[in-house]
Amino acid sequence: EPKQIINFGAGPSKLPQSVLLQAQKELLDYGGIGFSVLEMSHRSADFGKILNKAESLMRELLSIPDNYKVMFLQGGGSGQFSAIPLNLIGLKEDNCADYLVTGTWSERAAKEAEKYGKVNIVHPKLDRYTKIPDPSSWTLNPSASYVYYCYNETVHGVEYDFTPETNGVLLVSDMSSNLLSRPVDVSKFGLIFAGAQKNVGCAGVTVVIVREDLLGHAQKECPITMDYKVQAANNSLYNTPPCYSIYIVGLVLEWIKNNGGSAAMETLNKQKSSMIYDIINASNGFYECPVDVSCRSRMNIPFRVGKKGGDEALEKEFLAAASKRGMLSLKGHRSVGGIRASLYNAVTVEETEALATFMKEFLKEHQ
Ligand code: PMP
Repeated sequence: EPKQIINFGAGPSKLPQSVLLQAQKELLDYGGIGFSVLEMSHRSADFGKILNKAESLMRELLSIPDNYKVMFLQGGGSGQFSAIPLNLIGLKEDNCADYLVTGTWSERAAKEAEKYGKVNIVHPKLDRYTKIPDPSSWTLNPSASYVYYCYNETVHGVEYDFTPETNGVLLVSDMSSNLLSRPVDVSKFGLIFAGAQKNVGCAGVTVVIVREDLLGHAQKECPITMDYKVQAANNSLYNTPPCYSIYIVGLVLEWIKNNGGSAAMETLNKQKSSMIYDIINASNGFYECPVDVSCRSRMNIPFRVGKKGGDEALEKEFLAAASKRGMLSLKGHRSVGGIRASLYNAVTVEETEALATFMKEFLKEHQ
Protein backbone atom coordinates (compact mmCIF):
# COMPACT_ATOMS: atom_id res chain seq x y z
CA GLU A 1 0.00 0.00 0.00
CA PRO A 2 1.48 3.38 -0.94
CA LYS A 3 2.39 5.48 2.06
CA GLN A 4 0.24 8.53 2.64
CA ILE A 5 1.98 11.79 1.80
CA ILE A 6 1.28 14.99 3.68
CA ASN A 7 2.40 18.22 2.07
CA PHE A 8 3.18 20.99 4.59
CA GLY A 9 4.69 23.25 1.93
CA ALA A 10 4.53 27.04 2.15
CA GLY A 11 3.41 27.57 -1.43
CA PRO A 12 2.63 26.41 -3.96
CA SER A 13 1.04 24.10 -1.49
CA LYS A 14 -1.55 21.45 -0.92
CA LEU A 15 -4.84 21.67 -2.81
CA PRO A 16 -8.00 19.92 -1.62
CA GLN A 17 -8.12 16.39 -3.00
CA SER A 18 -11.63 16.91 -4.37
CA VAL A 19 -10.37 19.87 -6.41
CA LEU A 20 -7.62 17.78 -7.97
CA LEU A 21 -10.04 14.97 -8.75
CA GLN A 22 -12.49 17.38 -10.37
CA ALA A 23 -9.70 18.94 -12.45
CA GLN A 24 -8.56 15.47 -13.44
CA LYS A 25 -12.07 14.46 -14.42
CA GLU A 26 -12.46 17.55 -16.57
CA LEU A 27 -8.94 17.74 -17.96
CA LEU A 28 -9.59 16.20 -21.37
CA ASP A 29 -13.19 17.22 -21.81
CA TYR A 30 -14.58 20.19 -19.93
CA GLY A 31 -18.32 19.91 -19.37
CA GLY A 32 -18.85 17.85 -22.52
CA ILE A 33 -17.47 20.46 -24.94
CA GLY A 34 -14.87 17.97 -26.18
CA PHE A 35 -11.68 19.77 -25.16
CA SER A 36 -9.79 21.08 -22.17
CA VAL A 37 -9.94 24.39 -20.28
CA LEU A 38 -6.24 24.53 -21.22
CA GLU A 39 -7.24 24.78 -24.88
CA MET A 40 -10.15 27.16 -24.54
CA SER A 41 -10.33 30.71 -25.87
CA HIS A 42 -10.38 33.28 -23.11
CA ARG A 43 -13.08 35.07 -25.13
CA SER A 44 -15.37 32.04 -25.33
CA ALA A 45 -18.71 31.82 -23.55
CA ASP A 46 -17.47 28.76 -21.64
CA PHE A 47 -14.46 30.61 -20.25
CA GLY A 48 -16.71 33.58 -19.49
CA LYS A 49 -18.68 31.30 -17.19
CA ILE A 50 -15.51 30.05 -15.50
CA LEU A 51 -14.34 33.61 -14.88
CA ASN A 52 -17.73 34.76 -13.64
CA LYS A 53 -17.97 31.81 -11.30
CA ALA A 54 -14.57 32.58 -9.75
CA GLU A 55 -15.52 36.22 -9.33
CA SER A 56 -18.98 35.65 -7.90
CA LEU A 57 -17.73 33.04 -5.42
CA MET A 58 -14.99 35.43 -4.33
CA ARG A 59 -17.61 38.15 -3.84
CA GLU A 60 -19.87 35.83 -1.92
CA LEU A 61 -17.20 34.28 0.33
CA LEU A 62 -15.68 37.64 1.24
CA SER A 63 -18.93 39.69 1.16
CA ILE A 64 -17.20 42.10 -1.19
CA PRO A 65 -19.19 45.35 -1.46
CA ASP A 66 -20.48 46.33 -4.91
CA ASN A 67 -18.14 49.30 -5.22
CA TYR A 68 -15.11 46.99 -5.43
CA LYS A 69 -13.68 45.37 -8.54
CA VAL A 70 -12.29 41.84 -8.45
CA MET A 71 -9.49 41.12 -10.92
CA PHE A 72 -7.48 38.01 -11.80
CA LEU A 73 -4.07 39.14 -12.98
CA GLN A 74 -0.65 37.80 -13.88
CA GLY A 75 2.71 38.83 -12.44
CA GLY A 76 2.37 37.12 -9.07
CA GLY A 77 2.32 38.71 -5.67
CA SER A 78 5.60 40.41 -6.56
CA GLY A 79 3.99 41.98 -9.62
CA GLN A 80 1.63 43.75 -7.23
CA PHE A 81 4.62 45.15 -5.29
CA SER A 82 5.12 47.30 -8.43
CA ALA A 83 1.51 47.65 -9.57
CA ILE A 84 0.35 49.09 -6.26
CA PRO A 85 2.68 52.11 -6.23
CA LEU A 86 2.36 52.50 -10.01
CA ASN A 87 -1.42 52.82 -9.63
CA LEU A 88 -1.84 54.36 -6.20
CA ILE A 89 1.19 56.26 -4.94
CA GLY A 90 0.19 59.30 -6.97
CA LEU A 91 -3.28 59.50 -5.42
CA LYS A 92 -2.14 62.44 -3.32
CA GLU A 93 0.26 65.16 -4.41
CA ASP A 94 3.12 64.20 -2.08
CA ASN A 95 3.58 60.97 -4.03
CA CYS A 96 4.39 59.01 -0.90
CA ALA A 97 3.22 55.91 0.92
CA ASP A 98 3.56 54.44 4.41
CA TYR A 99 4.84 50.87 4.77
CA LEU A 100 4.84 48.50 7.71
CA VAL A 101 7.83 46.19 7.28
CA THR A 102 7.37 43.05 9.36
CA GLY A 103 9.04 40.38 7.22
CA THR A 104 10.51 39.44 3.87
CA TRP A 105 7.41 40.19 1.81
CA SER A 106 6.61 43.64 3.09
CA GLU A 107 10.33 44.44 2.94
CA ARG A 108 10.37 43.55 -0.75
CA ALA A 109 7.19 45.52 -1.38
CA ALA A 110 8.61 48.63 0.28
CA LYS A 111 11.86 48.34 -1.66
CA GLU A 112 10.02 48.07 -4.96
CA ALA A 113 7.76 51.03 -4.14
CA GLU A 114 10.81 53.24 -3.65
CA LYS A 115 11.21 53.21 -7.44
CA TYR A 116 7.95 55.06 -7.89
CA GLY A 117 7.65 57.47 -5.00
CA LYS A 118 8.62 58.27 -1.43
CA VAL A 119 8.38 55.41 1.01
CA ASN A 120 8.12 55.97 4.73
CA ILE A 121 8.68 52.99 7.02
CA VAL A 122 6.36 53.96 9.84
CA HIS A 123 8.12 52.25 12.73
CA PRO A 124 11.71 51.80 13.96
CA LYS A 125 13.43 49.20 11.76
CA LEU A 126 13.27 45.68 13.16
CA ASP A 127 16.47 43.67 13.34
CA ARG A 128 14.51 40.42 13.54
CA TYR A 129 11.11 39.74 12.07
CA THR A 130 9.54 38.21 15.12
CA LYS A 131 7.00 40.80 16.19
CA ILE A 132 4.77 43.61 15.03
CA PRO A 133 5.87 46.96 16.45
CA ASP A 134 3.29 48.38 18.81
CA PRO A 135 0.97 50.81 16.97
CA SER A 136 1.84 53.46 19.57
CA SER A 137 5.35 53.54 18.05
CA TRP A 138 4.13 54.16 14.49
CA THR A 139 4.40 57.55 12.86
CA LEU A 140 1.81 57.53 10.12
CA ASN A 141 1.92 60.31 7.58
CA PRO A 142 -1.55 61.83 7.04
CA SER A 143 -0.60 62.88 3.51
CA ALA A 144 0.48 59.37 2.48
CA SER A 145 -1.47 58.00 -0.46
CA TYR A 146 -1.84 54.66 1.32
CA VAL A 147 -0.65 52.52 4.21
CA TYR A 148 0.69 49.10 3.18
CA TYR A 149 1.10 45.97 5.26
CA CYS A 150 1.46 42.22 4.79
CA TYR A 151 -1.28 40.52 6.80
CA ASN A 152 0.65 37.26 7.09
CA GLU A 153 4.39 37.06 6.56
CA THR A 154 4.83 33.63 5.03
CA VAL A 155 8.57 33.32 5.64
CA HIS A 156 8.65 34.56 9.22
CA GLY A 157 5.28 33.30 10.44
CA VAL A 158 4.12 36.72 11.62
CA GLU A 159 0.40 37.43 11.29
CA TYR A 160 -1.47 40.51 12.48
CA ASP A 161 -4.25 39.87 14.96
CA PHE A 162 -5.68 43.34 14.30
CA THR A 163 -6.38 45.65 11.37
CA PRO A 164 -4.04 48.66 11.35
CA GLU A 165 -5.78 51.96 12.17
CA THR A 166 -4.77 54.51 9.54
CA ASN A 167 -6.91 57.51 10.55
CA GLY A 168 -8.64 57.66 7.22
CA VAL A 169 -5.65 56.94 4.97
CA LEU A 170 -6.25 54.19 2.41
CA LEU A 171 -5.28 50.71 3.62
CA VAL A 172 -3.59 48.21 1.28
CA SER A 173 -2.93 44.62 2.29
CA ASP A 174 -1.00 41.65 0.97
CA MET A 175 -3.12 38.63 1.91
CA SER A 176 -1.25 36.15 -0.28
CA SER A 177 -0.87 33.59 2.46
CA ASN A 178 -4.02 34.05 4.53
CA LEU A 179 -6.85 35.17 2.24
CA LEU A 180 -9.97 33.12 3.04
CA SER A 181 -8.28 31.45 6.01
CA ARG A 182 -10.35 33.76 8.24
CA PRO A 183 -13.12 36.31 7.73
CA VAL A 184 -12.07 39.80 6.69
CA ASP A 185 -14.02 43.06 6.41
CA VAL A 186 -13.20 44.14 2.85
CA SER A 187 -14.80 47.56 3.34
CA LYS A 188 -11.87 48.56 5.57
CA PHE A 189 -9.46 48.28 2.64
CA GLY A 190 -8.72 50.25 -0.47
CA LEU A 191 -6.99 47.27 -2.01
CA ILE A 192 -6.38 43.63 -1.14
CA PHE A 193 -4.28 41.28 -3.19
CA ALA A 194 -3.22 37.66 -2.99
CA GLY A 195 -1.12 35.37 -5.11
CA ALA A 196 -3.42 32.35 -5.37
CA GLN A 197 -0.90 29.59 -4.76
CA LYS A 198 -1.56 29.04 -1.03
CA ASN A 199 -5.19 29.12 0.10
CA VAL A 200 -7.12 29.98 -3.04
CA GLY A 201 -5.67 28.06 -5.97
CA CYS A 202 -2.50 27.43 -7.89
CA ALA A 203 0.34 29.63 -9.11
CA GLY A 204 -0.14 31.90 -12.10
CA VAL A 205 -2.98 34.10 -10.96
CA THR A 206 -3.12 36.94 -8.47
CA VAL A 207 -6.43 38.12 -7.06
CA VAL A 208 -6.75 41.90 -6.76
CA ILE A 209 -9.75 43.44 -5.00
CA VAL A 210 -9.79 47.21 -5.38
CA ARG A 211 -12.22 50.00 -4.55
CA GLU A 212 -13.61 51.53 -7.73
CA ASP A 213 -12.79 55.15 -6.94
CA LEU A 214 -9.07 54.25 -6.88
CA LEU A 215 -8.99 53.36 -10.55
CA GLY A 216 -7.60 55.79 -13.09
CA HIS A 217 -4.67 57.21 -11.16
CA ALA A 218 -1.82 55.18 -12.67
CA GLN A 219 1.49 56.82 -13.45
CA LYS A 220 2.00 57.26 -17.17
CA GLU A 221 4.85 54.72 -17.17
CA CYS A 222 2.59 52.02 -15.71
CA PRO A 223 2.64 48.95 -17.99
CA ILE A 224 -0.81 48.60 -19.48
CA THR A 225 -1.23 45.03 -18.17
CA MET A 226 -0.75 46.40 -14.65
CA ASP A 227 -3.11 49.34 -15.05
CA TYR A 228 -6.04 48.56 -12.77
CA LYS A 229 -8.39 50.82 -14.68
CA VAL A 230 -7.68 49.01 -17.94
CA GLN A 231 -7.92 45.55 -16.42
CA ALA A 232 -11.08 46.39 -14.48
CA ALA A 233 -12.76 47.92 -17.54
CA ASN A 234 -11.95 44.73 -19.45
CA ASN A 235 -13.03 42.34 -16.68
CA SER A 236 -9.42 41.00 -16.44
CA LEU A 237 -9.52 40.27 -20.18
CA TYR A 238 -7.46 43.12 -21.59
CA ASN A 239 -5.01 40.41 -22.61
CA THR A 240 -5.01 36.64 -22.17
CA PRO A 241 -5.48 35.93 -18.48
CA PRO A 242 -4.10 32.85 -16.68
CA CYS A 243 -7.15 30.84 -17.74
CA TYR A 244 -6.41 27.49 -16.17
CA SER A 245 -5.31 29.01 -12.87
CA ILE A 246 -8.58 30.97 -12.74
CA TYR A 247 -10.46 27.73 -13.32
CA ILE A 248 -8.63 26.14 -10.38
CA VAL A 249 -9.45 29.17 -8.18
CA GLY A 250 -13.12 28.60 -8.99
CA LEU A 251 -12.89 24.98 -7.88
CA VAL A 252 -11.08 25.88 -4.66
CA LEU A 253 -13.61 28.60 -3.82
CA GLU A 254 -16.42 26.12 -4.39
CA TRP A 255 -14.68 23.76 -1.97
CA ILE A 256 -14.33 26.54 0.62
CA LYS A 257 -18.02 27.38 0.23
CA ASN A 258 -19.08 23.74 0.57
CA ASN A 259 -16.99 23.53 3.72
CA GLY A 260 -18.58 26.47 5.48
CA GLY A 261 -16.72 29.51 4.13
CA SER A 262 -14.09 31.66 5.80
CA ALA A 263 -15.58 31.41 9.31
CA ALA A 264 -15.41 27.61 9.22
CA MET A 265 -11.87 27.80 7.78
CA GLU A 266 -10.91 30.05 10.68
CA THR A 267 -12.23 27.61 13.27
CA LEU A 268 -10.19 24.79 11.75
CA ASN A 269 -7.10 26.94 11.28
CA LYS A 270 -7.19 28.02 14.94
CA GLN A 271 -7.54 24.42 16.01
CA LYS A 272 -4.75 23.16 13.74
CA SER A 273 -2.24 25.87 14.59
CA SER A 274 -2.95 25.54 18.34
CA MET A 275 -2.12 21.86 18.17
CA ILE A 276 1.38 22.67 16.96
CA TYR A 277 1.96 25.76 19.11
CA ASP A 278 0.83 23.81 22.20
CA ILE A 279 3.54 21.24 21.59
CA ILE A 280 6.15 23.94 21.04
CA ASN A 281 5.09 25.74 24.21
CA ALA A 282 5.14 22.59 26.32
CA SER A 283 8.50 21.36 25.00
CA ASN A 284 10.72 23.14 27.53
CA GLY A 285 12.61 24.85 24.75
CA PHE A 286 13.25 21.71 22.70
CA TYR A 287 11.07 23.30 20.04
CA GLU A 288 11.40 27.05 19.81
CA CYS A 289 9.23 29.45 17.83
CA PRO A 290 10.92 32.85 17.77
CA VAL A 291 7.72 34.76 16.99
CA ASP A 292 6.04 36.83 19.69
CA VAL A 293 2.90 35.07 20.96
CA SER A 294 0.74 38.05 20.01
CA CYS A 295 1.40 37.65 16.30
CA ARG A 296 2.01 33.95 15.70
CA SER A 297 0.69 32.90 12.33
CA ARG A 298 -2.03 30.31 11.95
CA MET A 299 -0.75 29.56 8.46
CA ASN A 300 3.03 29.25 8.74
CA ILE A 301 4.72 28.01 11.90
CA PRO A 302 8.50 28.43 11.89
CA PHE A 303 10.39 26.68 14.66
CA ARG A 304 13.83 25.47 15.64
CA VAL A 305 14.66 22.08 17.09
CA GLY A 306 17.02 20.95 19.85
CA LYS A 307 18.15 24.19 21.42
CA LYS A 308 17.76 27.94 21.23
CA GLY A 309 18.70 29.04 17.72
CA GLY A 310 18.42 25.44 16.50
CA ASP A 311 20.63 22.37 16.42
CA GLU A 312 21.16 21.98 12.69
CA ALA A 313 22.15 18.32 12.82
CA LEU A 314 19.05 17.49 14.84
CA GLU A 315 16.89 19.52 12.48
CA LYS A 316 18.21 17.45 9.59
CA GLU A 317 17.31 14.35 11.51
CA PHE A 318 13.84 15.80 12.21
CA LEU A 319 13.26 16.42 8.50
CA ALA A 320 14.51 12.98 7.52
CA ALA A 321 12.34 11.25 10.13
CA ALA A 322 9.30 13.32 9.09
CA SER A 323 9.92 12.49 5.46
CA LYS A 324 10.08 8.79 6.34
CA ARG A 325 6.55 9.15 7.65
CA GLY A 326 5.44 10.88 4.46
CA MET A 327 5.48 14.42 5.90
CA LEU A 328 7.11 16.62 3.31
CA SER A 329 8.12 20.22 2.59
CA LEU A 330 8.79 21.04 6.25
CA LYS A 331 12.17 22.69 5.71
CA GLY A 332 12.27 26.30 6.85
CA HIS A 333 12.85 29.12 4.39
CA ARG A 334 16.54 29.39 3.52
CA SER A 335 16.72 32.85 5.11
CA VAL A 336 15.37 31.62 8.46
CA GLY A 337 16.50 28.00 8.70
CA GLY A 338 14.98 25.34 10.92
CA ILE A 339 11.51 23.99 10.25
CA ARG A 340 8.37 25.61 8.88
CA ALA A 341 5.01 23.89 8.97
CA SER A 342 2.41 25.51 6.75
CA LEU A 343 -1.18 24.67 7.66
CA TYR A 344 -3.24 26.22 4.89
CA ASN A 345 -6.97 25.53 4.48
CA ALA A 346 -6.41 22.33 2.50
CA VAL A 347 -4.29 20.74 5.25
CA THR A 348 -6.68 18.69 7.37
CA VAL A 349 -6.97 18.35 11.14
CA GLU A 350 -5.96 14.69 10.81
CA GLU A 351 -2.83 15.62 8.87
CA THR A 352 -1.95 18.22 11.49
CA GLU A 353 -2.52 15.58 14.18
CA ALA A 354 -0.05 13.33 12.43
CA LEU A 355 2.56 16.08 12.59
CA ALA A 356 1.75 16.76 16.24
CA THR A 357 2.14 13.08 17.11
CA PHE A 358 5.44 12.91 15.28
CA MET A 359 6.71 16.04 17.07
CA LYS A 360 5.83 14.57 20.46
CA GLU A 361 7.60 11.30 19.67
CA PHE A 362 10.66 13.06 18.28
CA LEU A 363 10.82 15.16 21.44
CA LYS A 364 10.63 12.05 23.67
CA GLU A 365 13.40 10.34 21.76
CA HIS A 366 15.79 13.28 21.70
CA GLN A 367 15.19 15.39 24.76
N1 PMP B 1 3.48 38.02 -0.57
C1 PMP B 1 3.46 36.95 0.25
C2 PMP B 1 2.84 37.07 1.59
C3 PMP B 1 4.02 35.75 -0.20
O1 PMP B 1 4.01 34.68 0.60
C4 PMP B 1 4.59 35.68 -1.49
C5 PMP B 1 5.18 34.42 -2.05
N2 PMP B 1 5.29 33.35 -1.29
C6 PMP B 1 4.60 36.83 -2.27
C7 PMP B 1 4.02 37.97 -1.78
C8 PMP B 1 5.23 36.82 -3.63
O2 PMP B 1 4.43 36.13 -4.49
P1 PMP B 1 4.95 35.65 -5.92
O3 PMP B 1 5.97 34.60 -5.69
O4 PMP B 1 3.69 35.15 -6.56
O5 PMP B 1 5.51 36.84 -6.61
